[in-house]
Amino acid sequence: MMDQNKLVIALTKGRILEEVLPLLQKAGVVPAEDIHKSRKLIFDSNIEDVQIMVIRGSDVPTYVELGSADIGITGKDILMEVGSDSYYEPLDLKLATCRLMTAAPVDQTITPKRLRVASKFVNIAKNYFSEQGRQVDIIKLNGALELAPIIGLADCIVDIVDTGNTLMANGLEPREHIADVSTRVIVNKASMKMKHDKIQSLLELLAAAVAENG
Ligand code: AMP
Repeated sequence: MMDQNKLVIALTKGRILEEVLPLLQKAGVVPAEDIHKSRKLIFDSNIEDVQIMVIRGSDVPTYVELGSADIGITGKDILMEVGSDSYYEPLDLKLATCRLMTAAPVDQTITPKRLRVASKFVNIAKNYFSEQGRQVDIIKLNGALELAPIIGLADCIVDIVDTGNTLMANGLEPREHIADVSTRVIVNKASMKMKHDKIQSLLELLAAAVAENG
């Protein structure tokens, strides 16, 4: 049975957390202790009945979908990869912006009929190339994607690009733009009904903080 008073917010650890905490603070929610100095995974906050979970971005949609968290904050890349419509996505926080792109070795023309694409975003890669009617073999990797084209495991990669420095350092260049990525708020569908006022007022405060950020 859902506790109607409690509101659990699932945050993505790492880069997104650094940018989201100041925004949450502007919206009036502050963790009761320093998240960075603790190995805890769930924190109380300055507001009674509001708790903050800090987890991997790829787990945020799962927690929200299953109702273990009412609200989740994670990257659009992760939401695109999961591709679920079992939660609402009411707000773009416009933080941790980056792009999903294909990348390949500098100046190398990609010729094979059937492209080998390495990515951790296998669904995004699959959808992107199939929408274009291009035949590809997707190779799932969990990190250090830039290595794959260098050692000939793949012809190109699908990855997140911010400054492009990581690609450049590995002799790769961005090629095709797949999507713009930023940090989004997702909400469990049942929570949106059962805890509507609480969630709506938090969303409004967050939206105001986003507007203030410009
Ligand atoms: P850059 O060298 O600035 O292009 O950054 C590229 C790497 O940083 C990528 O391979 C990602 O792993 C990571 N990265 C950059 N921006 C983000 C972001 N907004 N969210 C998650 N990872 C990111």
